[in-house]
Amino acid sequence: MCPRTHRVALGKWKNKMMKFETFKKIIDEGTEKGLKAINLNNFGESFFNKKLVEMIEYAKSKGVLDVMLHTNGTVMDEILAERIINSGLDRIIFSLDSITKEIYEKIRIGAKFEDTIKNVKMFYKVREKICKYKPVIRVSMVRMKENDHEANKFEKFWGPYADEVTYTDYRNQDGLDTADRYTKFKKENKSYSCPALWQRLTVNATGEVTACCRDAGKRLTLGKIDEKNKSLTNIWNGDKLKESRIMHENKQAYLIDACNGCDHIRGHILPKK
Ligand code: SF4
Repeated sequence: MCPRTHRVALGKWKNKMMKFETFKKIIDEGTEKGLKAINLNNFGESFFNKKLVEMIEYAKSKGVLDVMLHTNGTVMDEILAERIINSGLDRIIFSLDSITKEIYEKIRIGAKFEDTIKNVKMFYKVREKICKYKPVIRVSMVRMKENDHEANKFEKFWGPYADEVTYTDYRNQDGLDTADRYTKFKKENKSYSCPALWQRLTVNATGEVTACCRDAGKRLTLGKIDEKNKSLTNIWNGDKLKESRIMHENKQAYLIDACNGCDHIRGHILPKK
């Protein structure tokens, strides 16, 4: 769905859905330890998971304050929209990237412009119809060479159908994208120290836990949630994450493979030809 096909390029991903039991285990243990916010996606589209609504309801029933998800908006109908709105979801972020068919379909490979537009507008109207103020609807654009000239129009176009319109800068994790899409130059910063390792964990659909949601290559994998004797707490307090935090504190994060491929450290550099 995206020109940066990390899943395909790295060969590390299979089309799997997180099992409801795995999800429950994460939420049960997490909320016992004070978990307050979750984001229900990583390198995949959450709406393909048939248990998505139940997962949101479960997380809310256990007291997670902020349940959010990003979606490309391609998998939506009125019944599903209504179920999602009534599930207690706090925030939904539609990743849309363009307001013109040609550019949108070039960036969001496989998606149909008219269908996505219709789905997002419908979602907003259903929320209006059932008089809910949640989920907060955000429409977001990754600014890149292809769409940067549309940024102002993007806000005007989506403003009537969203509570928030946001922009983020394009990133090329590990330099995997062979096209140059950067709109800005950012210098390499070898001494970058990242807060992410103290803030969150990423659990992939298969239960593999990585230190960071940007780790498309799963190179900083810390364990697997459904392995015997593995718990989120063990992983959070485990040696691998502790060592990584120390390296970040000592400004040596560039020695961690996953982090060295990250724009925070490598800057925005052109892909190899
Ligand atoms: S990959 Fe990037 S965002 Fe993730 S922990 Fe490393 S430096 Fe931070």
